[in-house]
Amino acid sequence: MNSKTGKEMKPFIVMDVLRRALELEEKGKHIIHMEIGEPDFDTPSAIIAAGIDSLRRGETHYTDSRGILRLRRAVAKYYNRNYGLDISETQVLITMGVSPALLAVLSSLINNNGDEIILSNPYYPCYPNFIKHLGGTPHFIHTKAEDGFHLNPAMVKEAIGPDTKAILVNSPSNPVGTVISTDALSEICGMGIPVISDEIYHGLVYGQKTHSSLEFTENTYILNGFSKIFAMTGWRLGYIIAPAEAVRKIEIILQNFFISPNSFAQRGGIAALELNHPEIEEMKKKYNSRRKFLLEELSAMGLNCAVEPKGAFYIFVDARHIEKDSYKLAFDILEKAGVALTPGIDFGDQGEGYLRLSYANSMENLAEGASRLQQYLNNNGYQG
Ligand code: PMP
Repeated sequence: MNSKTGKEMKPFIVMDVLRRALELEEKGKHIIHMEIGEPDFDTPSAIIAAGIDSLRRGETHYTDSRGILRLRRAVAKYYNRNYGLDISETQVLITMGVSPALLAVLSSLINNNGDEIILSNPYYPCYPNFIKHLGGTPHFIHTKAEDGFHLNPAMVKEAIGPDTKAILVNSPSNPVGTVISTDALSEICGMGIPVISDEIYHGLVYGQKTHSSLEFTENTYILNGFSKIFAMTGWRLGYIIAPAEAVRKIEIILQNFFISPNSFAQRGGIAALELNHPEIEEMKKKYNSRRKFLLEELSAMGLNCAVEPKGAFYIFVDARHIEKDSYKLAFDILEKAGVALTPGIDFGDQGEGYLRLSYANSMENLAEGASRLQQYLNNNGYQG
């Protein structure tokens, strides 16, 4: 393997937007944050209590590199219950979030320079950066509105070649917030190529069902975690469900890179999966009302999406009639209107001209953000 150095990695633009927003706040400017993909809710109280108890009990040591057995069992049970499966905890590996999970799985699949991973464009920005860093090649499929901006199976089939190592699916997606159709997912899973399925937004869906790739094939690597559905971004906790024969290779990668996941965070993960959390239903209700509110507000000002987002907490709107350069537009809105949002170009050339807004913020802040955006458009001569 001939890995590239980090020097060539592109910036994760949303983090640059946040950086500038924080600089402006430092200077006394009030900013409405709609850039960052992070729940504004605190972690449910029973999970916090489990993490604190763990530390008090002195669980401050390394664990099994694969993660605590009880947590691996809880993950297997959670997937079996939610998707009607029969997977074993021996297929589960606990990681410090989906990001390390993705790095480990891609590291296990990309062996030679030029090994290809098929993925959609627009995409979650870290995907191609990780692939290229490992010496692989991202093979982009340009998505269309009629496919909900997800992979089109016929186009995927055509893209498969001798160097294809995996197909990467992310549904509900970041940045578009749409859910892949069941038919498309099952067709992609039937192509005989490993499917990496980033299911981090599963559970955050409004009026639609999500399917796991594991329902359609055993030749799949599930990436999921606790950051979004359990509002646990700062805990750094996620997991991989891998085909039985691939587990050992990934375990060795995890041992070398990370030694073990955080001990006490895993106790929080056990509480997340084994206990009931009334807070989560409340969060979901709130996300859904914010989603509806913001969709209406944006559409009234002429900022539309071709497909209604029904998952995650993002709205990806077309702003090409205002400015084709989304980077320029996002930073101008930040400076002049005090609203931080993410330029579509962060998600690939197919995202250019779009803006991603996150509704993981209070209704009050979203209303203020919408009113500032309207004002910005008025000042620049755009009417809805
Ligand atoms: N995948 C997607 C699609 C994401 O949006 C994110 C977080 N923004 C991640 C993975 C990484 O999540 P984690 O906090 O678990 O590392």
